[in-house]
Amino acid sequence: MPAEYQVTVVGGGPAGLTTALYTTRLGHDTAVINRGGGRAAMMLDTHNVIGVTEDVSGNELLQTAVDQIEGYGADYYRDTVSDVAETDDGRFRVTAGDMEVITERVVFATGFSDARPAPPLPRTGRGLHYCLHCDAYMFVDQPVFVMGHGDSAAHVAMIMLNFTPEVDLLTRGAEPEWSEETQRMLEAHPIDVVHEEIDSMEKGEDGWLEAFIFEDGTRREYTGGFPMYGSNYNTDLATALGVELTDSGEIAVDDHGRTNVEGIYAVGDVTPGHNQIPVAMGQGAKCGIGIHYDTRAFPRSLEEIEAHGPVTEADIPAISDRLRDRAREHNAASPGPDPRLPAESDD
Ligand SMILES: Cc1cc2nc3c(=O)[nH]c(=O)nc-3n(C[C@H](O)[C@H](O)[C@H](O)COP(=O)(O)OP(=O)(O)OC[C@H]3O[C@@H](n4cnc5c(N)ncnc54)[C@H](O)[C@@H]3O)c2cc1C
Repeated sequence: MPAEYQVTVVGGGPAGLTTALYTTRLGHDTAVINRGGGRAAMMLDTHNVIGVTEDVSGNELLQTAVDQIEGYGADYYRDTVSDVAETDDGRFRVTAGDMEVITERVVFATGFSDARPAPPLPRTGRGLHYCLHCDAYMFVDQPVFVMGHGDSAAHVAMIMLNFTPEVDLLTRGAEPEWSEETQRMLEAHPIDVVHEEIDSMEKGEDGWLEAFIFEDGTRREYTGGFPMYGSNYNTDLATALGVELTDSGEIAVDDHGRTNVEGIYAVGDVTPGHNQIPVAMGQGAKCGIGIHYDTRAFPRSLEEIEAHGPVTEADIPAISDRLRDRAREHNAASPGPDPRLPAESDD
C-alpha cells in the first residue's frame, strides 16, 4: 500500500525543507522526496544567511535541515519524482522510483539548473560563480569577467562596475544578441567586450582561476566571474498537472505559494523572485503556513458545524498520533522554564 501524507514536498533544497519544517511542526504529516544535487548543494560556502557562518557548505546546511525536519517527524526520501497524477478522490499519487505515495497537497520546490557554457571553465566557486548577490562582494577591486552574449550578460557586466573598475564581457565568439539600447548603454560604461573564444586557462595551486588565454594568444587575468546563459526551470511535473507558468518560465504562484491548480503549491527558485536562500526559506515558511490555513481542522466553520455537528472530545487534537507522540517526546526532552526568569508567584 502506498504511504499516505497530507503534504508531499518534491525537492529538498532550502525552500522545500523549510516548507516541510513548517507543515510538520504545524501538525501535518509530511514527506520530502529529493533527488539531490540542486543549487544549494553546489555552494562551497554560504553567504547572506544570517546566523550561518561562511565556512558552512551547502551540503552541511542541507544535512542539518534534514536532521531538523526528521527530528519533528517528517519523512525524507532520497529519490527522483517521475510522476505526479490526480487520483479519483481529488488527492495526488506521487511516483519516485519504486515508491508511490498518496498525498492531499503537493509542493514543487524543484528549483532550476544554470545553463553552463562550454569548457574550458574553472571550478564552480573557484572562479566560476552563478550567484551575483552572493559573490559580487568577493570581487571588490578584483578583475572579473562576465560571459555571455545576451542582454542579461551585458547588464550584469555593467552591474559589476558597482564593485570593481575591472570588468570584461566575454562573448566567446558568439554574435551579440543584446538590444540596441543595451549596446548604447554598454558604450557609455568602461567595459572591455572581448569577442575571441577562450583557448585555455591558468589556475593557482589552490584551484582558483588566475587567467584565460584567448585564441588570438592574448592573456587576461581574472579572479573570477559570472556565466550568463539562462536558467532551465524544473517545471515538467507541474505543467503536466495544468499548472501555469510566467512568461519567463517560472511557476506562477500567489503570496503563499498557491498555484492555479487546487492542492498544488510551489516555492523557491522555481518561482519568481530573488534566487537566494533567505528568500527561498521565506517562501517555504509562507507556503507551510498557507497550507496550514488551507487544511487545518479547527475552527470548524458554521457550515461545517451544520454538516458535521459541534467539535467533540473525540475529534481533538487534529494532529496524527505519530506526530503527536513525536511532539510529546520532543517537548519532554527539551529544557524546562528558563532559570533566569523570576519564579511565578501565586499572588
Ligand atoms: C554556486 C552557487 C552558490 C550560491 N551561493 C549562495 C549563497 O551563498 N547564499 C544564498 O543565499 N544563495 C546562494 N545561491 C543561490 C541558492 O543556492 C538558491 O537560491 C537556493 O538553493 C534555492 O533553493 P531551492 O530549494 O528553491 O532550490 P535548490 O537548492 O536548487 O533545490 C531544489 C531541489 O529539488 C530537487 N529536485 C528537482 N527536481 C526533482 C524531482 N523531479 N524529484 C526530486 N527532487 C527534485 C533538486 O535535486 C534539488 O535538491 C547559490 C547558488 C549557486 C548555484
